[in-house]
Amino acid sequence: MKYRSTRGGQTATLDEALLAGIARDGGLFVPERLPAFDSADFDGDDTLTSVARRLLTPFFEGSSLAAGLEGVLAETFSFPIPLRELPGTDTRHLLELFHGPTAAFKDVGAGFLAACLSRLAGGDERPVTILVATSGDTGGAVAAAFDGRPGMRVVVLFPEGRVSARQAHQLCCWGDNVLSLAVHGSFDDCQRLVKQAMANAELSARWRFSSANSINVGRLLPQCIYYAQASLACWRARRAKPGFIVPTGNLGNALACMLVREMGLPVGDIVLATNANRMLVDYLDGGEWRPRASLRTLATAMDVGDPGNMERVRALFGEAGELRGRLRAMSVTDDEIEQEIRDVWSADGLAICPHTATASRAWRRLPDADRQEAEWVIVATAHPAKFESVVEPLIGRDVPLPAALQGVLSRPARSTAVEPRLEAVEAAMRDAFAT
Ligand SMILES: *Cc1c(COP(=O)(O)O)cnc(C)c1O
Repeated sequence: MKYRSTRGGQTATLDEALLAGIARDGGLFVPERLPAFDSADFDGDDTLTSVARRLLTPFFEGSSLAAGLEGVLAETFSFPIPLRELPGTDTRHLLELFHGPTAAFKDVGAGFLAACLSRLAGGDERPVTILVATSGDTGGAVAAAFDGRPGMRVVVLFPEGRVSARQAHQLCCWGDNVLSLAVHGSFDDCQRLVKQAMANAELSARWRFSSANSINVGRLLPQCIYYAQASLACWRARRAKPGFIVPTGNLGNALACMLVREMGLPVGDIVLATNANRMLVDYLDGGEWRPRASLRTLATAMDVGDPGNMERVRALFGEAGELRGRLRAMSVTDDEIEQEIRDVWSADGLAICPHTATASRAWRRLPDADRQEAEWVIVATAHPAKFESVVEPLIGRDVPLPAALQGVLSRPARSTAVEPRLEAVEAAMRDAFAT
């Protein structure tokens, strides 16, 4: 399997695409073709790893990782991803993606990427250095996934004072191979520094830079697995093709759902739920594609004004006209997010995070006929305890921490403050890694 750049200027093997993150022409890597499956191909595949083995094997053809795929999958799917039936109806389900080490769905992609890159990095004496700019969730998932891996280093850049206390802790509590930099600036400054560092040929060669942002194809592939597994479960139980409602920011998670349907798995409608950052809704309504400055909302991990994966969606599936037949999008306001968290608590006795609430609200806003006639899977992207300052006042009680997150939060944390300049970042790296 080859991977091509969305801008047409490069094809690469999986190994090259994983290590580079982004194509030389600035485009994003997409598979050159998608394998075709039938639901019956998965008969007997009951676990995440067995579904993953069947679905992902074609994507690893020709990769040096093919022989080690089993190990990669075992490391990636080391926690459960349950499909929970919600009370009162057997047509509404919650797909819980938050049982990993940092309690958000990004643990799946980060774990897979770490398992792949640590195998690819071998053979050279110098470690690979992963740079990651984060506004909250990504950095923690990446740091957790690479923590303690030989041959790998991680530098996390986050905007000082602009992430929650629990998020900050998850960014700063890892071992000696992880350097957490509290940048005196904004998330945009952090992103700019990562781009500058990667574009600097000398630094890039010296540190063997690689990236783990959501544009790496290694984040996308493993996310396909839970959609496949959940759709097959509904198909086997009732011959139903469930619709999926996906909380959407950078479009990585939703794109995985689209790919899975394209490959022939029993996925019905796909609804993208956004917060007040509603470019996708306006675009599908017939507007121009117009990235904007992001608005701050309660679903902070979806505060994206220029979704990076849109370039992949358009390259693979076309423009608004074609996309309208494949997707719906709904924008949910902060008021609705709050109301939904209250409603789900009082009706179902369930605490949900603000991101999950956008999808749950979108389900409620579906036309009655759609809601009643089809099965729906609401994708739950984070554990509510990660966003306790929003959720707890709305439901009037504490949300207990899941054990994994409790473990993370009990580790000692430390970070290094830096000015938003490349020289300052490199000086901190030299200091921390003693080179
Ligand atoms: C990152 C994130 C999202 C958005 O996912 P995308 O792939 O960027 O669309 C939604 N919810 C949570 C909790 C996240 O961390």
